[in-house]
Amino acid sequence: MSNYDNKNTVNILWTGGWDSTFSLLLLVDRDVIIQPHYIIDRRRNSYKKEIEVMDEIRAAILDKYPITRHSFRPTIYTELSDVKIDEEMFIKHKNLQQDTGLGDQYNWIASYAKNADLNDLQMSIVKDGSISGLLDGFFEKVDDGILQPYWKTTNVPDDRDISILSYFHYPVLDYTKLDMLETSKKEGFFDILNLSWSCHKPINDEPCGICKPCIIAIESGLSWRLTPKAIRRYKLRRLYAFYNKLVRKFVIIKKNLKNERLNNHYYINKL
Ligand SMILES: [Zn+2]
Repeated sequence: MSNYDNKNTVNILWTGGWDSTFSLLLLVDRDVIIQPHYIIDRRRNSYKKEIEVMDEIRAAILDKYPITRHSFRPTIYTELSDVKIDEEMFIKHKNLQQDTGLGDQYNWIASYAKNADLNDLQMSIVKDGSISGLLDGFFEKVDDGILQPYWKTTNVPDDRDISILSYFHYPVLDYTKLDMLETSKKEGFFDILNLSWSCHKPINDEPCGICKPCIIAIESGLSWRLTPKAIRRYKLRRLYAFYNKLVRKFVIIKKNLKNERLNNHYYINKL
């Protein structure tokens, strides 16, 4: 039996979504220890569903690839509220966000990596994803003979804002979502990849069709993963957004009227 203590550990951010599950599946037949990390963001409706799906995927992987019983470590779960935001990360992220609209999550993911002393945390950014362009000229492809070739940053000056992206390795930067589909079929793990879950705002336990990951999935050729209802919502999403805005406005007007009535009542009683 091999000695698993001597193997390299691959740290990977895993959310149970299409991209990070694909990255995880690229590791199952590699001679490494797989250590997933998941940050629990309780503000997101989907976190329970994501954890449920990851459990399901884990069981399917252990069943299909028995060798992973030794190498697939339990996921390290961390509450977002327990991630201490690093001041340097905060400032650099804010600058980048102003210039490029970089998502909020990079602030706390980079802080998490820095606090945990990780500089090789796998992050599943895909080809043409929003941040790949930011690192143009600061990327190098690594082929270490152990993992599938991956990308990492190189020569990023410490004082550059983009240095917050140096804590990561990027295993799927060469892939589109359809490339992943094709590879998963070729490698024989499509059945497991298809268990993944990407929607941030599920409706009745089904993808919503209108959140950012749903829109990206539909526009990247994965619309068949969503229900006809979700596709209908996607097509009517502008109308849907307008309707929700109206409902929110109505709730505020109702609340203000109620407050006004209470104030009047109080005033009249005082007279
Ligand atoms: Zn959605």
